[in-house]
Amino acid sequence: MDKQVLLYEGKAKKVYATEDPGALIVAYKDDATAFNGLKKGSIAGKGVINNQMTNYFMTLLEREGVPTHFLRELSERETLVKRVTIVPLEVIVRNIAAGSFSKRYGVEEGVVFDRPTIEFSYKNDELGDPLLNTSHALALHLATEAEIDTIRTLSLRVNEVLRTFWAQCGVTLVDFKLEFGRLGDGTIVLADEISPDTCRLWDAATGKKLDKDRFRRDLGGVEDAYAEVMGRLRNHDAR
Ligand code: UDP
Repeated sequence: MDKQVLLYEGKAKKVYATEDPGALIVAYKDDATAFNGLKKGSIAGKGVINNQMTNYFMTLLEREGVPTHFLRELSERETLVKRVTIVPLEVIVRNIAAGSFSKRYGVEEGVVFDRPTIEFSYKNDELGDPLLNTSHALALHLATEAEIDTIRTLSLRVNEVLRTFWAQCGVTLVDFKLEFGRLGDGTIVLADEISPDTCRLWDAATGKKLDKDRFRRDLGGVEDAYAEVMGRLRNHDAR
């Protein structure tokens, strides 16, 4: 499958059209941004890790009954995916307080919730991805009620699968962001990526941060942290 026209270049990925109108190629870059693009940098090797980790999880999730846009990995950094229309909602599932939740509600990072929380933001860079509730999403026609129900159910299922998987690797899944898309027939499928850019992952024994917070907060050892979690994932299957 050949890359044709560059359709879109985002912060961490490029998307190309192919000769198949139903398929796109996603190419992962090493570029990293944070705080809505205010902080810019690069994490060497990140594109390869994020591509391979995403594809590993998309395959696992398909097996667990979560439909995804994944078709096949083409190379270290490139993957063929089904063309979808992205639902302009960022879905955030949290098991433990961190990041914007801790800041907004004045809760210390690390407080474990009795049950997972789920929240939506409006995927809109100009507005800074504002938090919204279901009735706001309906008022803005971002998705239908049935679609939001499906997205909620699938997101909590993704959390169960990922949390169990990472626990087996000695990693605590703190929170993560998902995006969904609509296929031509309207089916909702999981899209975008699942990687240390979009998940908070803490070493279960030491609490060490093994994700993009090392970049956001200038903690150092960013490349090593990405390599560490990818190594744990690979060892999971080697066992
Ligand atoms: N997240 C993301 N993209 C975003 C915002 C958040 O991938 O635009 C991920 C982030 O990596 C974390 C989770 O979603 O795993 C929750 O992020 P939070 O709302 O705490 O925001 P942050 O503190 O990252 O600004």
